[in-house]
Amino acid sequence: MKLYNLKDHNEQVSFSQAVKQGLGKQQGLFFPLELPEFESTDIDNMLEMDFVSRSSKILAAFIGDEITHQQLSERLNAAFSFPAPVKRVTDDIACLELFHGPTLAFKDFGGRFMAQMLQYVSDSEEQITILTATSGDTGAAVAHAFYGMENVRVVILYPQGKISPLQEKLFCTLGGNIQTIAVDGDFDACQSLVKQAFDDEALRKAVGLNSANSINISRLLAQICYYFEAVAQLPQERRNQLVISVPSGNFGDLTAGLLAKSLGLPVKRFIAATNANDTVPRFLKNNEWQPNKTVATLSNAMDVSQPNNWPRVEELYRRKTWRLSELVSASVNDDTTRRAMRELNSLGYISEPHAAIAWRLLRDNLQDGEFGLFLGTAHPAKFKESVEEILGQQLVLPPALAERADLSLLSHQMAADFSALRHFLLKK
Ligand SMILES: *Cc1c(COP(=O)(O)O)cnc(C)c1O
Repeated sequence: MKLYNLKDHNEQVSFSQAVKQGLGKQQGLFFPLELPEFESTDIDNMLEMDFVSRSSKILAAFIGDEITHQQLSERLNAAFSFPAPVKRVTDDIACLELFHGPTLAFKDFGGRFMAQMLQYVSDSEEQITILTATSGDTGAAVAHAFYGMENVRVVILYPQGKISPLQEKLFCTLGGNIQTIAVDGDFDACQSLVKQAFDDEALRKAVGLNSANSINISRLLAQICYYFEAVAQLPQERRNQLVISVPSGNFGDLTAGLLAKSLGLPVKRFIAATNANDTVPRFLKNNEWQPNKTVATLSNAMDVSQPNNWPRVEELYRRKTWRLSELVSASVNDDTTRRAMRELNSLGYISEPHAAIAWRLLRDNLQDGEFGLFLGTAHPAKFKESVEEILGQQLVLPPALAERADLSLLSHQMAADFSALRHFLLKK
């Protein structure tokens, strides 16, 4: 697969390069040169297949020239080792639950596939150091995705005392090739340390630095697969009347959904649901891109006011000659989010703030005869404190969380000081 840089169409790279590099020049995003499409009979056949076989076929349409079908299947088997069930909420609405992976959020799909692809495209002798900063969710997905992989060392920086205790337990108790550093500073300080490390050419070479960035194209490709999996679980008569609502922050999940549609998956329309960080819904209304200062909300994984993946959404609409005005987007504030969670609870479905936002907008937008799906992006127990308080009931911790809750933390402590980090990285 060839990809081009959205900021400079002359810069073209292979999939392997894009996976290793992450971003192009001037921090430009990579976008596929060819947009494959399946015939509707192909789609019907694919919807009969199992998750991994179907996913191999989808991804081969993009990267089949750089990886054999056999290799792709094996690696997808390793990456997608958990289900993505569709759970019915009401007659015409269901949730696609993407939180049954090891870190209980949809980021496991992209993180685990990226880990497989990075290993595949790297020289087997090469030592790679994955260095990343996290404010919570991404760190956990990355740590678990690379855990136990040969020749890969993972170093994750996070702001000490600023992530939830359960989140910390989830990725700071693994040990092995996963090293975690509690930095005396905030998330910005962590990000700045990572940036300094990447700017240090000698250090980069010495330890084979690589980022596990969320804009990596391999993540998006992986995420296309669960949209097909959702449709495969719907009864035949619902498949052509489908509306999908996506809780959006960096808009990676939405981009993957739109790519699924461009491959031929029948989706009538998408709803891009945001919290009070509403740059996109405002943009679609008045055509002015005016990000406000990011505000903290209950759905903190969507607290993004300058969504990284938006240029990819625009490019896809341009390439397909779709109209952006057909994309529905709106925002939901914290009060309405709380109410939505309680309403869902009274329908017998326990949800967390991100998914509840998507459900709320879906319910308001759905027309007669349509069927709605909203994405359940995280397990409610990941947001235990707020969910228990809003619903007034106790949650049971799933095994992935419960089994780590009593383990001791293995994190190193560090001042927000680059020479300390440099020393740490160079030490074996
Ligand atoms: C990351 C995340 C989102 C936002 O996904 P994007 O692809 O960044 O739009 C939504 N919900 C949860 C729980 C997340 O962790």
